[in-house]
This record gives sequence, structure tokens and C-alpha cells, in this order.
Amino acid sequence: MQQIGFVGLGNMGGPMALNLVKAGYHLTAYDVMPEAVHKLVAAGATAAKTVADAVSAAEIVITMLPGDTQVKQVYMGDKGVLNSGKKKTLLIDCSTISAQVAQDVAIAAATQGFDMIDAPVSGGTSGAASATLTFIIGGKNAVVERAKPVLEKMGKNFFHAGDHGAGQIAKICNNMLLAVLMIGTSEALNLGVAYGLDPKVISNIISKSSGRNWALEMYNPMPGVMDNVPSARQYSGGFGTGLMVKDLGLAEEAALAKKAPTPLGSLARQLYQLHDQAGNRSLDFSSIIQMIGKR
Ligand code: NAD
Repeated sequence: MQQIGFVGLGNMGGPMALNLVKAGYHLTAYDVMPEAVHKLVAAGATAAKTVADAVSAAEIVITMLPGDTQVKQVYMGDKGVLNSGKKKTLLIDCSTISAQVAQDVAIAAATQGFDMIDAPVSGGTSGAASATLTFIIGGKNAVVERAKPVLEKMGKNFFHAGDHGAGQIAKICNNMLLAVLMIGTSEALNLGVAYGLDPKVISNIISKSSGRNWALEMYNPMPGVMDNVPSARQYSGGFGTGLMVKDLGLAEEAALAKKAPTPLGSLARQLYQLHDQAGNRSLDFSSIIQMIGKR
């Protein structure tokens, strides 16, 4: 089996890497948080102490990092992937970052003889755990085909959106809409509950009516409606509010650059920013319902 270097073992990267170990890949794992590496080692991965350690012998490198800064540092830093990996290694960045940085890193990688794709994901932590993620890919056809076998061990839907950066644009369009849907869903549930309706009953009614949407049906923000979602565990372990603020910032920058109006996206960014600044950065983004409906 091929040798994989995996960097960034958080809420998403941890379970994605675990699925690759289960599929039989030889995986060397690195994260700045040693506890995240220990979990992978317990499952059969090899621990790396630096990015260079993780990638120097790898045939495939996968990264799942918070944002632009970390991706630039991990790939283009002094002891980063481009200076430490073997030429021709397949590089797959699954982080959600700006299209511009995705393009810059891909160009630097190509110049140094690497094949690279940007492959941000949708499907959340449950999709990462169950290997059912949707990959939204940017890059050259041949490289996308080269990446498919390993991506298939972590996901089940694959969209090739276009060249480098295209995957990132599609991804932030999705997340901007998700933020708007989560806020709208939170408002609707709070209103129903304020009038004495059972949140399970109102959720069931809307899920069979024209207001149905993913936030309501798969990721309900109201505690007590669903099991196995962040609202059932005090909003821990999901998609952090700070990461949603980052994605809404990327969407807004992209919209401004093309003069594309996104008024609800801008409002969602401001509401999430307030929620973040109120000390909720690491809580899952569905915790916005607490800001909207203080009861
Ligand atoms: P996370 O904060 O849980 O994990 C990020 C990990 O990267 C952490 O373990 C952190 O220690 C590590 N890290 C940071 N800088 C590093 C560095 N320089 N070197 C090595 N490791 C480093 O975040 P997450 O929820 O796993 O999200 C990761 C990416 O996936 C983000 O871009 C996010 O927007 C995107 N995403 C998240 C979800 C979700 O539901 N959580 C869904 C889709 C996409």
C-alpha cells in the first residue's frame, strides 16, 4: 500500500486519516497538537514530529488545516511540504481556503515538480467519520484521476469544479448558503418554541413543508431534537464558529472582487462575527441559535 503523509488531524482530518489507516494505507501523521497525533498512532499510524518528517517518504500528502495562513506555512515554509517532499508526490489540500492561495500554492508546487489538487469537502464531522464526504475538486484532470482511489476511501461524491481554486469557490458558495440556512432555521425554531410548540414537532412540520433544508433535517441546532449532532453535545466537536467566520469572510472577499451582491451572506458574516467575539469561537456553528434566542 502507498505511503501517506497526513498533516492536520482536527475534527475533520482526524477521522479522515483514521479511515485511510483502516483502508490499509501506511500513514504518517502530524499535527501541532500532540494529542491529535496520539489518537492516530493508537489506530496504527506512525507519529511525525514535524511536517518534514510526515512527508519526506510519502507518495501522497494530504492536508486538512484551518485556513490560508496554515496552508501557506505547511506547504511553502522553510521545512514545508515543497522543500521536504519527494518530487512527483501527489499533494491534496482538503482545507477550505481562498481560491487565490490555492492557486499560489498549486503553481509553486507545479514549479517544483509536484502534482497538486485543492479538494475541500462538505459533509461535516459525521461525513468524515463515515467516509461519505463530498469532495469539491480544483486542478488538472489527470491529477484528479490520480487522486480518486485515495479520495474514495474518505468520501462518496466527487465533483471536479475546474482548475486550481475552482473547488474553493464552489465550497464557499455552499458554506455561505449554509450559514444563511442555519440562521434562518434558528429563527424559525425559536419563534415556534416561543409560542409553546415542541421543537421536535415544529422541526417535523417544516421538514415536510417548503422550509425544509439540510440545517434543519440533518444538523438541527435546537437541543433535544436530534442525537449525534453538535446541539446534542453542547455544540462540541463540529464545525467551529471561528471557521464559519473565516469562510464567510472568504465569500465576502470573493463577492466584492466580482461585484456580485451577497447581502444575506454579509449579514450572516456579521452575525457570526458577533457570536465568535462573544466567546463562542470553538463551539459548533449551529450554536448561533443561542445568540438568536436567549431564553
Ligand atoms: P480543526 O480546528 O478541528 O482542525 C485543524 C487542525 O489543524 C488542528 O488539529 C490543528 O492543531 C491543526 N493545525 C493547525 N495549524 C497546523 C500546522 N501549522 N501544522 C499542523 N497542524 C496544524 O478544524 P476542522 O474542523 O478539522 O477543519 C479543517 C478544515 O476543514 C477547515 O479549513 C474547515 O473550514 C474545513 N471544514 C470543516 C468542516 C467541519 O465540519 N468541521 C466541514 C468542512 C470543511
